[in-house]
Amino acid sequence: MNDAVAMEATRRRTQHRANGKASEQGEQPAQWGRAWEVDWFSLSSVIGLLCFAPFIVFYFVMACDQYQCSVSQPLLELYQGETTLLSIWARAPSFTWSAAKIYAIWVAFQVFLYMCVPDVTHKFIPGYVGGVQDGARTPAGLINKYEVNGLQCWLITHALWYANAQYFHWFSPTIIFDNWIPLMWCANILGYGVSSFAFIKAYLFPTNAEDCKFTGNVFYNYMMGIEFNPRIGKWFDFKLFFNGRPGIVAWTLINLSYMAKQQELYGHVTNSMILVNVLQAIYVLDFFWNEAWYLKTIDICHDHFGWYLGWGDCVWLPYLYTLQGLYLVYQPVQLSNAHALAVLLLGLVGYYIFRSANHQKDLFRRTEGSCSIWGQKPAYIECSYRSTDGGVHRSKLMTSGFWGMARHLNYTGDLMGSLAYCAACGFGHILPYFYIVYMTILLVHRCVRDEHRCSSKYGKDWKRYTDAVPYRLIPGVF
Ligand code: NDP
Repeated sequence: MNDAVAMEATRRRTQHRANGKASEQGEQPAQWGRAWEVDWFSLSSVIGLLCFAPFIVFYFVMACDQYQCSVSQPLLELYQGETTLLSIWARAPSFTWSAAKIYAIWVAFQVFLYMCVPDVTHKFIPGYVGGVQDGARTPAGLINKYEVNGLQCWLITHALWYANAQYFHWFSPTIIFDNWIPLMWCANILGYGVSSFAFIKAYLFPTNAEDCKFTGNVFYNYMMGIEFNPRIGKWFDFKLFFNGRPGIVAWTLINLSYMAKQQELYGHVTNSMILVNVLQAIYVLDFFWNEAWYLKTIDICHDHFGWYLGWGDCVWLPYLYTLQGLYLVYQPVQLSNAHALAVLLLGLVGYYIFRSANHQKDLFRRTEGSCSIWGQKPAYIECSYRSTDGGVHRSKLMTSGFWGMARHLNYTGDLMGSLAYCAACGFGHILPYFYIVYMTILLVHRCVRDEHRCSSKYGKDWKRYTDAVPYRLIPGVF
């Protein structure tokens, strides 16, 4: 299996040894791959996350279900002895076979769309890049092929959802909300199942052994993953499927279900709910429109597939990224026009920065610098690095456009958009603001992680880049 898949992946181990200079300074280029070794801090964070992340998800969802989305009330009642952990647990809806059936049908349908319906949308939607695409070079020097059909899956799924709501009435559009906690148990079963499977698979039948990374610590391996691009067969890529399909396709459906529930409960939909649906739908559609670009992001290019991605995509993403909509079912907020407009503007400006920065880097990398950024030829720093097979490769780091203002302005735009989702919920409770706190931690940590990796990859060239662009997220501040 190992050999077969290795052959499927396009082996483009471009040996630049012959013509590649080591670096501009004539030094040995740095070597890349996952850079962090397991120190005690990483290990304790990993164990902490493994133990507490499922409880964090449960706590927020339970707070909405039992305490009208108050985060402090359960703690207060526990402190005052008015409730116990056992009674909270007893009140939580348990696993049901009907939820299991819904979840199984949902996942099976997404597997079917992903595997059996090759992309045709790229043939008639101008400007959309779909179908078979190359991923980025892995640390072992491989370039995998991917069937990019996420936009098509999203369109088919949502067309069916709409057809059901309008014409067929096979199920209620509130089905997701109505089974929210039982579905969470099913999502956990899949999340733990797929992470454990990927862990065992890495030892027994890895897709590409050269791209496996064993740290020597079992908890770290389980959480951060061993295999780089685990696959079953030629096309079932774990990273692309789990992140995109049960995770991100579900995001907009979950929000639609919340909207339907608001309508059912109160007879109308609030402007805050519409704002959350619209702003998050823009983000989701952007993801699928640019799925080929996603192949070049850190998730696919650098992260190994473990519990962090497997469980995160199945549970954390659908349950915590949609907290705003859930909150608005329990606490319907009608915003003033000025508030709604401010939220919309923040969301759209954030999205503009996020998308433009990502687009600039993508364009720059695709054209190898032969493009125009803000009307000018981009400035860049030439770098080189070494893959694990010893091959030396060249790359460029742009210092123009958004990438000349700060090293991660795409994250800044993302954070502005995230704040807009939260602000759409008004200021009555802190629960919907969990998202901006989480995204800030995630993206600042990602920033540090990525820079550490880039520094090991590019060595002195990375230092030249950080001297040229000294700020990370906010020009002049950080
Ligand atoms: P980036 O798209 O910023 O990619 C970082 C990589 O880009 C680096 O590792 C390096 O890769 C390359 N790079 C860095 N600087 C430059 C430069 N100046 N010129 C050219 N290439 C450069 O990060 P992510 O993949 O983390 O994020 C992609 C998007 O996804 C972001 O907008 C982020 O906000 C979003 N995101 C959203 C999440 C969510 O949960 N909502 C989670 C994570 C990300 P190389 O090794 O190729 O040089």
